[in-house]
Amino acid sequence: MIHHYKVFKQGMKSLLNEIFLINLREQRLIIFSLNANKFMVCKENVILKNILLQANIIIPDGQGIVWLMKKTGKNIPKIAGIDLMIEICQKATEKKKKIFLFGATEESNLKTKRYLEKKFPKIEIVGRCNGYRIDNNNIINDINKSKAEILFVALGSMRQEIWIIENKEKLTNAKIIQGVGGSFDVFAGKFKRAPNFLINIGLEWAYRLIKTPSKAGILKQLIKFLFYVISFQKKKLN
Ligand code: UDP
Repeated sequence: MIHHYKVFKQGMKSLLNEIFLINLREQRLIIFSLNANKFMVCKENVILKNILLQANIIIPDGQGIVWLMKKTGKNIPKIAGIDLMIEICQKATEKKKKIFLFGATEESNLKTKRYLEKKFPKIEIVGRCNGYRIDNNNIINDINKSKAEILFVALGSMRQEIWIIENKEKLTNAKIIQGVGGSFDVFAGKFKRAPNFLINIGLEWAYRLIKTPSKAGILKQLIKFLFYVISFQKKKLN
């Protein structure tokens, strides 16, 4: 049920204000993304759902979620995780907050650092680590020692959410933690985002699906999601 999730409804500007306000109050803020595929996966898997429910903020990172929210009577703007990451980086640069990049291959991780440093010359990326190391305790130590207050975790869908929830108590300085999926691969130029006109008409998901035909499981979930939303108005219960 979509009401279970703390889906952010006010759009990017309010979200940024909220994120940096909460940070000033020294609380920890965990930000996860929700799209149609994840919604269906979590509908069928209560363990994963409980992980997502532990986020402080869930961003509607997909047209499907925007559509489902509309069925519940709420018109909300979509917020893409990768766009939010960029906005957080910009605000962090202004506010001199330190950043740590965790996840993806060594190449994508390094290229993401370079991309962000070029875009925001004063950004403070104080540490980074690829997502294929297995020495978790050392990774946590590296993140803590870096004193980064902002942590982006790019381990892929659900793997990153599980990691964040399992390790959040050990993270002593990171106050803003966002799961950013495959975003580092996009910054590294390994994957391209959909053309803007497709993003604008809400078809980024279709572009992604065509580009990754191996992900037949996602298509199955999207079809199930379609039927779920269509039947939603009739049932109005789950
Ligand atoms: N990834 C990682 N460690 C892993 C597995 C994946 O850092 O053990 C990274 C991967 O390099 C990619 C991102 O997570 O940058 C997304 O991976 P994938 O496309 O497999 O996940 P999805 O989000 O599509 O499920």
